Order: sequence, then structure tokens, then C-alpha cells
Amino acid sequence: MMPVPWSHVSYWRCTGCGICCKKFDVVLKFDEWLRLVKTYGIGVTTAGLNKFYLNKRPDGSCVFLTQSGNISFCGLQNMKPLACKLWPFRILDKPKYGRPNEAAFNYNGRRLYVYIDPLCPEILWGKPTPKMVYKVIPEFIEIALGLREKQFYSTATPLYSLYPKTRRRYRII
Ligand code: SF4
Ligand code: SF4
Repeated sequence: MMPVPWSHVSYWRCTGCGICCKKFDVVLKFDEWLRLVKTYGIGVTTAGLNKFYLNKRPDGSCVFLTQSGNISFCGLQNMKPLACKLWPFRILDKPKYGRPNEAAFNYNGRRLYVYIDPLCPEILWGKPTPKMVYKVIPEFIEIALGLREKQFYSTATPLYSLYPKTRRRYRII
């Protein structure tokens, strides 16, 4: 399905449903691959033609995905690949998926093109809310540009903020 310009999205938040951790292949940058292999061994990755990917289980899910009931947890929080942090958004220099005027986003005077993958079930369509424009999208842009690593709006709510007495290694995706 073709990614859709951000200006059609009222709001988005990740609920940790885990669909993206089951349906997609996660491409790794070389330094991400190296760090993962050094920490977890070669078995957590796999090689394609010119790329490295996170490995999958026979059911198609990421090897770092854990599920409890219908809540998914990522076991790779401290070195989560950029591709995982950015999904379902695409932050681009050029309007690769068309509709340039609808996809254009001004970030500190820089014109970028922002799209969202409609396969994520948590997209609310409509006029973008101020939180979407001033918090969510800028955080995705900053992660894409390498200006920040920590996720707040771009990931699901940490478990320990829902249950303060619970100090778990895992967070919802
Ligand atoms: S990004 Fe979307 S598909 Fe992936 S876990 Fe969050 S809500 Fe689910
Ligand atoms: S977010 Fe975590 S569990 Fe999901 S694909 Fe990425 S590394 Fe795997």
C-alpha cells in the first residue's frame, strides 16, 4: 500500500499491537548489524543480497518480539534499529510517494516530505491535531536526522509509567 502524506492524518499513536514486528523485514544499518552481532551473536540477523536484516522466527515474528496476551514487547530497547523507530513514518528529502504539497513539512526552515504507512492500524484520518504537528512528527524527523535517539511520542507508552511499581526491562514497542 502506498504511504500517505502526513497532512491527511489527524493523529497516530503506537498501541504496541506488534503487527509491524510480524509483517515486515527490518533492514539494519551496518553499524546496527555489527553491534547486534557483537552483543547477541550472528543468529539474530540474516543477510539479503546487499543488506542485513533482523532475523525472524518461523511464524514471521521478529526474534526480539515477546507477547503477553495481546500486548507486544520489544526486547531490543537499548539498540532498537532506526527502521523500527521510524515505522510507520517515512521522512524524506524528496516526495518519493507523490502529492508533494500534501507531504511537505517545514522543520526549522528545512523542507522535508513526511508520509505514513497506512498498514499501521492506529492511524486516525483527518485534519492533523497540534500534537501531531508540533510533537509527534518533529520527534520522528529528529530521529530520522540523527538529532535524537530517545523515543517518547514515537513509541508506545512505557509499561512502568502505566504501572509505576513495575520495573521491567521490556517496554511496549
Ligand atoms: S507502529 Fe502501528 S503496527 Fe506497529 S506496534 Fe505500533 S500500532 Fe502496531
Ligand atoms: S520494534 Fe523490536 S520487536 Fe519489533 S521488529 Fe523492531 S526490534 Fe523487533
